[in-house]
Amino acid sequence: MTSQRPARHWIIVGAGSAGCVLANRMSADPDCRVTLLDDGPDLRQDAIPAAVDGPNFLDALHEPGRTHADLLAKRTTDAEASPYPRGRGLGGSSAVNAMVALRGSEQQYRDWGWSDAHRAWDRVQIPAEAAAEAELGVVDRALIAAAPRTERARLTRRAGRRITSAEAYLWPVLDRPNLVVRPNTAADRLRISGRRVTGVHLVDGTSIDADHVVVAAGAIHTPAILLRSGLDTPGIGQGLQDHPAAPLTLLLRGGVDNRPGGLVIGTLLHQHIGEDLVQLLPMNHIGRLPGAERLALFMPALMTPSGAEGTVTIDNEGQPLVDFALLSDADDRAALGAAVRLALDVLSQPSFTDIVETVYIDEHGTTADALADDTTLQTWLRSRAGDYVHASSSCAMGVVVDDHFSVVGYEGLSICDASIFPNIPDANTHLPVTMAAERFCMRETMSA
Ligand SMILES: Cc1cc2nc3c(=O)[nH]c(=O)nc-3n(C[C@H](O)[C@H](O)[C@H](O)COP(=O)(O)OP(=O)(O)OC[C@H]3O[C@@H](n4cnc5c(N)ncnc54)[C@H](O)[C@@H]3O)c2cc1C
Repeated sequence: MTSQRPARHWIIVGAGSAGCVLANRMSADPDCRVTLLDDGPDLRQDAIPAAVDGPNFLDALHEPGRTHADLLAKRTTDAEASPYPRGRGLGGSSAVNAMVALRGSEQQYRDWGWSDAHRAWDRVQIPAEAAAEAELGVVDRALIAAAPRTERARLTRRAGRRITSAEAYLWPVLDRPNLVVRPNTAADRLRISGRRVTGVHLVDGTSIDADHVVVAAGAIHTPAILLRSGLDTPGIGQGLQDHPAAPLTLLLRGGVDNRPGGLVIGTLLHQHIGEDLVQLLPMNHIGRLPGAERLALFMPALMTPSGAEGTVTIDNEGQPLVDFALLSDADDRAALGAAVRLALDVLSQPSFTDIVETVYIDEHGTTADALADDTTLQTWLRSRAGDYVHASSSCAMGVVVDDHFSVVGYEGLSICDASIFPNIPDANTHLPVTMAAERFCMRETMSA
């Protein structure tokens, strides 16, 4: 792409699912200089940790430095804050996620007014490959037998290897003279002069000048950076969402081989309950934790929540305080309750009773029989409902950013990551974020 503009320096804060796309596409313009920053470690072709490459994303999550280990979040109003995983380093969450590759419904993008979404999808370079039959685990096989509409999960892999956003988008362009990639470089806050953003102050006390900053630090850290910077745009950190989910723990019968090193998620079942979309997601094992050899998970999740009461604020030190306020909406509570009933029905099928000894609903040994009446089910959901690690919409388009991803009230500042969805996509969020980033770049190219 060529333009008549003078050379412009872009800083992209965050090298995750969105940031890698932005660095690739913006540096294709020789009139741009691009600096890509990430708080976390490098990820280069000659040094991919085996855990990132392998089939078990739970191992990737334990790879040193690859998550923001100190991040906590409250899931529901009644719950205590507990660790909330977010990827860190080149590739961001794409290097540690469960690799499920879904686009979400075309209707939701039309509802958002993203009439060019199909063109953005055409540009997406992340592969989606069905899990191999031989890799399916015991819970996958039980689900296929219980519900013939079960799909083999498509995963962001090629030839059985994870393709991170760094591999797909950054590695091919690392030799561009106008692209500087700086891992282990944390942004503290934006440098602002009047209403114009002029650069980024780093945590190490230095700063970098820029003509334009794109914050792509994810739906938790992006609003935290904006709030630390003192921006006065209304709505920053408001409207945070995730897909509410209800984890059911399966104690497998003795002798059932659930292969803790293997593929965690190989199948998915989608079902509409009324107007709500539910995803039933089996986890064949829960990793290599001592004592967990016979444990697996079955997770009904609500993919179309209405509630958007979640918030990201900051504490006195400027660190994120996260409250998802999941299930604050009565319709969401009813829909997730119905999803749990559907999941329990699936678990009562012979293919599951053959391999599952007990279904637990907490770590105190309470079994799923306790959920027989709706009042108990709703009480359990209010305290135990979990997230789906799909934080979204904390700087929503139409509120914090305009249709061009520009932050309302400021010059030289955009946001492009999971924060900007008008509401949470009805699918797992990595591919939708990638498409949104491609869409940002298409629009920037056209306005150049
Ligand atoms: C454990 C897990 C499992 C998941 N499973 C799936 C799945 O199977 N399928 C799916 O579609 N989605 C999945 N997701 C969600 C999906 O991966 C994310 O929605 C998506 O990757 C978010 O992209 P992003 O660009 O918004 O943020 P990220 O990819 O998280 O990137 C943000 C980057 O910003 C960096 N950053 C943060 N703060 C700063 C700072 N101050 N300075 C510099 N850099 C900073 C971070 O280190 C990070 O690298 C999962 C997520 C997790 C964590």
